[in-house]
Amino acid sequence: MAKEEIMNQLDMAQFSGRDLRMTSKVSKNGNHWYEFIRVACPICGHTGNCIVNETGTAIICTRCENKHPYGTAWYYSLKYSAKTNQSNAIRMSKHVPDIKQASHANDNQLDKVYRLLLLYYGLTKADFKTLTSQRHLSEETIKHHHYATFTESKRQVVRTESGKIYSIWHLLFKKIGIPLDSWLGVPGFYGVNLPDCKELLPIFNTVEGTLIPFRNASNLITGLQVRVHKIPVYIKVINKQFKSMAYKIHASADGSFTITDRYGEEITTGFGVFHQENTVQLPDGMLTFKMSKGAKYIWVTSVHKLEGCGPSGDLGLPCQVDLDGIYQTLRLEAPANFRQQPKTAWITEGGLKTDVATEQLSQVFTTQELDKFGHMIIGVPGTSTWRPLLKLIADLNITRVTLAYDADFVSNKAVQTQYSKLISALSNRVVVQIAIWNINDGKGIDDCLVNRKRPKIICLNA
Ligand SMILES: [Zn+2]
Repeated sequence: MAKEEIMNQLDMAQFSGRDLRMTSKVSKNGNHWYEFIRVACPICGHTGNCIVNETGTAIICTRCENKHPYGTAWYYSLKYSAKTNQSNAIRMSKHVPDIKQASHANDNQLDKVYRLLLLYYGLTKADFKTLTSQRHLSEETIKHHHYATFTESKRQVVRTESGKIYSIWHLLFKKIGIPLDSWLGVPGFYGVNLPDCKELLPIFNTVEGTLIPFRNASNLITGLQVRVHKIPVYIKVINKQFKSMAYKIHASADGSFTITDRYGEEITTGFGVFHQENTVQLPDGMLTFKMSKGAKYIWVTSVHKLEGCGPSGDLGLPCQVDLDGIYQTLRLEAPANFRQQPKTAWITEGGLKTDVATEQLSQVFTTQELDKFGHMIIGVPGTSTWRPLLKLIADLNITRVTLAYDADFVSNKAVQTQYSKLISALSNRVVVQIAIWNINDGKGIDDCLVNRKRPKIICLNA
């Protein structure tokens, strides 16, 4: 690719502190890697997922293919420049935190702590309403899957009248009889040192939103995602052509924006286009800016916090494993038989979507049809992170899969590439079927089934 040949080492000074997010990836030489979160990846022009090393000499792009595949992405090495390298070294040395991290807890510990946490937070009425009326989940499924709402207002550290400080988590762990340090290695938890408290106190934190539990094949909750309540919108001012001292842009995820003056007085409002230049006429000139949207779903993580950890264990990010009523009974009554029995699984992407679709299966298909198409749905953690699926396929003796990615995958080049990689990885292992439906019947398999439409199932390799 031409871009690869001409691109020089990135000058890291061009990024402000919040443009990049440090990931858990560290090269063998100790180089940390950063994700482009508020600025576009210079290779593909998109925010999110693609990463750059701290020296600015390499980019791993998740969207643009070249001749150097790297996992499910592509490696770009950039032209070295001694001068840039020196300034990068000075700049990035300030970024690397030397914080002790905990190693990922095992599945049983994750499950115990997460179940307790979800119970403690509970689900708000507003979130319950969204899940039932917009996503068509039943009350039973919501309860069964332990959906909850994270709000910052719930107290985690309490001071008694006598001045003693205690952690709500220690209290809860004691109550259910698990060790007081059970929070160690559970993504989302980290420790804080308070001035008049000798022990390290556990704190759980993420962004406000609906907590979506990811359950493994044994029904253990091994990861949490948040569907964020307020999707952040990032603004980058491209060109200021006015005399006034300061304007502020406030934008929402629907594209609407308001421009205020330095006193907070509204100057103008409008609708902008994401990832494109928007120019606004102001009383004393023009303002051009670009807007980009943050993610709707994020993994709960406490990476780079004291005794915290990232969302993925040894096997990568967790998959969502959902069973229909027939398989749930089988797993409950004969877990060994359940594992050994050859089976078919639907494969889609996303945790909430998987929960919604599984509940609808028996509403659309007969038991005999589900024997062929699948009594279970596995939600891969992301379109580019399907590798954990291969282990599940072996563990659960899955011999046939029905792929059900969103109907618009054909319009997204990056998703399309990952999809065909997934298909070729699966074709060597199992019988591959594809579910196809009209996009007007719903974007995701969940919408399609909720609308009582039957996808067409086509076999690729049998
Ligand atoms: Zn990229």
